[in-house]
Amino acid sequence: MELNENARIDTSQVEDRRGGGAGGGLGIPIPIGGGRGGIVGIVIAVLVALVGGGFGLNAMTGGEEQGDNTALEQRCAADDALEQLDCRNTLYVNSIQAYWRTALPQDLGEQYQPTRTVFFSRAVNTACGQADSGVGPFYCPADSLVYIDLSFYEVLATQLGAEGEFAQPYVLAHEYGHHVQNLLGTNEQVRRQQQRDPGNANDLSVRLELQADCYAGAWAKNATGTADDSGQRIFTSITERDIAEAIDTAEAIGDDAISRRADRPVNPDEFTHGSSEQRRQWFNRGYDSGDPASCDTFSGAV
Ligand SMILES: [Zn+2]
Repeated sequence: MELNENARIDTSQVEDRRGGGAGGGLGIPIPIGGGRGGIVGIVIAVLVALVGGGFGLNAMTGGEEQGDNTALEQRCAADDALEQLDCRNTLYVNSIQAYWRTALPQDLGEQYQPTRTVFFSRAVNTACGQADSGVGPFYCPADSLVYIDLSFYEVLATQLGAEGEFAQPYVLAHEYGHHVQNLLGTNEQVRRQQQRDPGNANDLSVRLELQADCYAGAWAKNATGTADDSGQRIFTSITERDIAEAIDTAEAIGDDAISRRADRPVNPDEFTHGSSEQRRQWFNRGYDSGDPASCDTFSGAV
């Protein structure tokens, strides 16, 4: 994977809430799903997008906290910007949103509404409640923002063995997949269905997550075609190895893999994100087709 050093990094698509007092306090982890804590808490990670869940508690009015992008803007305008983790991640966000700006109307008949990714450290207040880093990156449907503590990538590399750089844009593309579901009304439909039919809540959650993986695959296929506002390509190359790294990551955060790592029995009825095999398959479905319309995880078996 190579990023184009001439691409402009658009920091207006992210919000830096790492500095100052904002979000630095003691976090109260949101009880999500089984809430077993430990490694499960960490990787429940991508779970939080699970609409419904423990959310809506102590909801904040969105936008109460403001980020300060001044330092980030400076860093990302410098010559060595691509050596900075936060600037690279900003560029990934730029690519993912550039993709959906075209693909959402073209392939799924819906206008894309851009949204920001919030960089936080340790804890953050969101319209979905307060979250701490232990929950991993997540999307909050109530304020339509993606949240990530960038130190999650160290957890991914050291504890989950997903070390490749391409794990990072994959994770972000998965979260933006939830944003797309929000724009399409998919997660709202799923939430209502889960309320009507609680016995199938986990299965529905798995389908929602697998679709986000599939959307991430569709982005990956088209990522080298994405450009900044002046038409400069963002990625100059993405290789088979990068795709393999994304798939490794998807597998590493499969529910069965997480259970095994935590020395817990693997119980498919408790899955909320899908098995490693399912996550790999659906990422590949999106990647092979390059078309988000192929990501129907709701009809038939997954
Ligand atoms: Zn997810």
